[in-house]
Amino acid sequence: MKSKDKALLQVHQMTIKQFEAQFPDEDACKAYLTANRWPDVVNCPRCGNVKVTELSTRAFHWQCYECGTEGASYRFSVLVGTIFENTNKPLRDWFRVMHMMLTSKKGISALQVYRVMGFGSYNTALLMCNKIRTALGNVEFKRLVGYVEVDETYVGGKAKNKHRGPGGRGDFGGTGGHGKSVIVGAVKRKGNVIARVVANTSKETLNAFVRMAVSTKVSLVSTDEHKGYTDLRHAYPHGFVRHGVGQYVHGAIHTNTIEGFWSIVKRGIVGTFHKVSAKYLPLYVNEFEFRYNNRKNADIFGAAIRAC
Ligand SMILES: [Zn+2]
Repeated sequence: MKSKDKALLQVHQMTIKQFEAQFPDEDACKAYLTANRWPDVVNCPRCGNVKVTELSTRAFHWQCYECGTEGASYRFSVLVGTIFENTNKPLRDWFRVMHMMLTSKKGISALQVYRVMGFGSYNTALLMCNKIRTALGNVEFKRLVGYVEVDETYVGGKAKNKHRGPGGRGDFGGTGGHGKSVIVGAVKRKGNVIARVVANTSKETLNAFVRMAVSTKVSLVSTDEHKGYTDLRHAYPHGFVRHGVGQYVHGAIHTNTIEGFWSIVKRGIVGTFHKVSAKYLPLYVNEFEFRYNNRKNADIFGAAIRAC
């Protein structure tokens, strides 16, 4: 097996022991990053030039003669332009944290990372986790087609407001209210989810989200009877169920898939993260979205590395 192919071995269900064996040191991590970042040919992060020269004196460093300043070539390492650049933590620590984050169903909190990794401060762990979560949100997506469900949910806020409202959906009017944050999501059945934290559940906000996330070539958009969705029918084949009167399925119309995703998010937030400040919620949503969209991807770890 060529060393590059070996470096691309998939890490999906890898145990800690196997992880240690595949990534014994920094060089192994850097080889893996190189192979994932530049699967065909190394190219300059600054100008895209593919005719770069590997430095013989420093491993995982190259120089580009296209975009350097006068007389001096531009030198870069495999870390340049990634979230791993300019950090004082070894790449291997980053890999360990990402491996933990991706192989645990409900995610892993910065506190757990802090304890397991033995970092000097909790803040180091939090910064790392949040950098990774930010990167996971940068994965390009295609607008959803096929059978799509759209729904919104509320998280955070005061405990007494967590009970379901009279409509049975935990819906407290048009805004998050009481310190709650709103997440809106669209999921293709048997496919990907796109979820975002939004400011409110107004018609404008929900419509803008759907336009961003769902192709007009979709077969069907299912929602509940929330007023914010009533205008969708002008641009999409739209059907809704009336949760308020106990209707959950009407032919192909239902929102069971997106509700399944919400329950994963909520179990994760309650069980693993205990509470999530509104400020960081978009990052957690990135993480849950990424894990969901790669749930069948044997190379979820490689996909995450390529996003970094
Ligand atoms: Zn260049």
